[in-house]
Amino acid sequence: MPPLSIDSGRLHRLLEGINRFGFNRETGGYNRIGYCDADMAVREWFLDVMRADGLATRRDGVANLYGRFGPPDGPCVMAGSHLDTVPEGGAFDGALGVAVALECVLSIRDAGLSPRVAIEVVATAEEEGRFGGMLGSQAIAGTVTSDWLWRAADADGTKLAEVMAAQGMNPNDALTAKRSDVQFFLELHVEQGPILEDCAIPIGIAHSIAGVRNLHVRFTGEANHSGTTPMHLRSDAFAGLAMVGAGIPKNIAAYGGEHTRVTIGKATLWPNFIHMVPGEVDFVVNIRDIDTAIMDAIEAAIRLEIDAAARANRLATSIAKQSRMEPVRLDTELADLLHEEARSLGLEALAMPSGAGHDAQTMQALCPSALIFVPSRGGISHSPREWTEWSDIEKGANLMLAALVRLSGATL
Ligand SMILES: [Zn+2]
Repeated sequence: MPPLSIDSGRLHRLLEGINRFGFNRETGGYNRIGYCDADMAVREWFLDVMRADGLATRRDGVANLYGRFGPPDGPCVMAGSHLDTVPEGGAFDGALGVAVALECVLSIRDAGLSPRVAIEVVATAEEEGRFGGMLGSQAIAGTVTSDWLWRAADADGTKLAEVMAAQGMNPNDALTAKRSDVQFFLELHVEQGPILEDCAIPIGIAHSIAGVRNLHVRFTGEANHSGTTPMHLRSDAFAGLAMVGAGIPKNIAAYGGEHTRVTIGKATLWPNFIHMVPGEVDFVVNIRDIDTAIMDAIEAAIRLEIDAAARANRLATSIAKQSRMEPVRLDTELADLLHEEARSLGLEALAMPSGAGHDAQTMQALCPSALIFVPSRGGISHSPREWTEWSDIEKGANLMLAALVRLSGATL
C-alpha cells in the first residue's frame, strides 16, 4: 500500500476554523486562555466538527475533548495537543497539533481504512499555564490531586474552582478524567525554537523534554548614597547579582551540557533609583536541562556562586527553590518508530530535545508518548508573529499519519 497523504486544504480550513475563536483584530494575536469564554466556545465548535465527521465524541470533566474513530471499545492510540493559548498567542501553538490529529483520522477514513485499535483525537485543556499548565493531560494521566485542584489560582488570584464553576464544571471532575486505555500518545507541535530552521530540517522528533527549576534569590545589603559611599565600603546588592550573572557561562562550561540553559530573566532592585547604591535585589535563576544529574550539578554550582557573590559584597542571602518540573525522557521505541517512518517517507528528521514543556511529557507518565516538531520561523512563538511553512506542516502531518496507520493497525 503506498503511503497516504493528508489533505492540506482541509487541514488549513480546520486550523482557520479553530483560530476564528479568540482572535484579536488589532494585534493579530489569539486569546483562548484556559477556560475563558473563547476557549470554551472553540471546544464546543471543535466537538461539533468531530461529531459531524462521524467520530464518537466526548468531553471529560476538565473539558478535554475526544473524537474516537475505530472500534468503540478497547484500547486506543491517542493523538492531539491543546486548544488553549497564552494571551496574544500565535496561530499554531497547540491548535496545529489538534487540527493535524483530526486531519490524519479523516485521511485514514477517506482511504477506506479501518483501524484495529481505535484512534482518538484529543484536544486538551489548560496546557499553557493559567493555572500551572498541562491540567488536561495531567487529568488524563491521573497525576492531579484534589488538594491541588481546590488550591490552584491564576496570576490574578482567581481560583480554578471558581473559573470551572462559572463554566459549569467542578474541580472534582478532574479526578474522573484518568484514562487507563491509552496505548500510545502522539503530539505534533511547533518547535518554538530556532534549531530546525537553523539546520534546514523539516521535522524534529523529541527524545526528551527539559526540566525547569527556579531559584528565587534575595540579596540584602545596604542602600546608600551613590556619591558619598566609597566603593570599598558598599554592600551593593546589584553588584552581587552581576557576579552571579557573569558566572553563568563559566558554570555551564564546568558543569553543564549542550542542552543546559541558565537564565536570570527577572530582577527587582530597591530602591531602584539612579543615585542610590541598591540595598536589596530579588532575582530568579531559571535552570533548564534534560538531565537531572546535570541540573543538580548546575544548581549546586550556582548556589556556590551566590554565596561567593554575597561574601564579596557583604550581603545577606536567602534562596527559595521552586522545582517546576523534572526532565522527562520520552519513549525511545516510539521515537525510533517515528524515525523509521520518516525514513520510509523520504523525510529528513532530527532527534532533538524539547526546551519547552508539552502535554507529551505528562502523558509519558501514562503511556509511551512521542512529540513531532515542525520548524518555527525565526524560532518565534507565543506571539502573533509565530509562523510555520505549510510545506513543513504537510511533512510533519504525513509523518503523524504514517505513525497512526501503523500503530492502529489500520488496513483496508
Ligand atoms: Zn503548545
